[in-house]
Amino acid sequence: MTMPYRRILVKLSGEALQAPDGFWLDAQVLTRLSQDIARATAAGFEIALVIGGGNIIRGARMSAAGWIDRPTADSMGMLATVMNSLALETALNANGVSARTMSAVSMPTICETYARQPALHYLEKGQVVVLAGGTGNPFFTTDTSAVLRAAELRCDAVLKATQVDGVYSADPKAHADAKRYDRLTHDEAIARDLKVMDTAAFALARDGKLPIIVGSLHAPSSIAAILEREAPSTVVAP
Ligand code: UDP
Repeated sequence: MTMPYRRILVKLSGEALQAPDGFWLDAQVLTRLSQDIARATAAGFEIALVIGGGNIIRGARMSAAGWIDRPTADSMGMLATVMNSLALETALNANGVSARTMSAVSMPTICETYARQPALHYLEKGQVVVLAGGTGNPFFTTDTSAVLRAAELRCDAVLKATQVDGVYSADPKAHADAKRYDRLTHDEAIARDLKVMDTAAFALARDGKLPIIVGSLHAPSSIAAILEREAPSTVVAP
């Protein structure tokens, strides 16, 4: 049975692009992700992407060292998301998916500046939009950016890709008896302080009644398989 979702915002962490040896970017990983996204668009899903920058810089961690202030470190983090987005856009286009990067931070010689109406237009035409630069403001994360853009672009859900195939009652790597939840409410996710997304992102999703699907993109799972319920996930929904 297909989930009742058609337009999806897929949130990837920057670490999803990392090479096995730790290098910040891996061409094979980008190709695999692009082929996964190509299958999802071929299956009829409209895809917007938000990619984090944590494989390069996280502003909070960087500024904690004390030599740089948080807004400057966050600006560097937002620039990191633009680099990741350009890499993903390139890989998508090379794999037959028409994609364009739109950045919340204006840099017109590098990519288009994010604006809602053109982004909606591209999605309606079946193009993939890669939403870079986070919200454009410091003190936010790309999880919050993902929920914000999903609400703006009338997405039916956010698919948060993680290392595991859903939300568990305990760390499944450490506890063999950990149980995967099929469904949780936003309030339950906030009350349990689930680390899968930050509280601001869950709160924004709750206010917008926006479902968040937590799943893994590691084979045999994929975006299309999760959305068509052929792969496990946890759905956080009202
Ligand atoms: N960032 C920001 N404002 C935003 C989104 C991101 O300042 O709206 C900065 C922040 O420093 C963050 C970094 O960009 O740590 C990278 O994003 P994030 O940590 O969300 O990446 P991920 O963990 O998903 O790879």
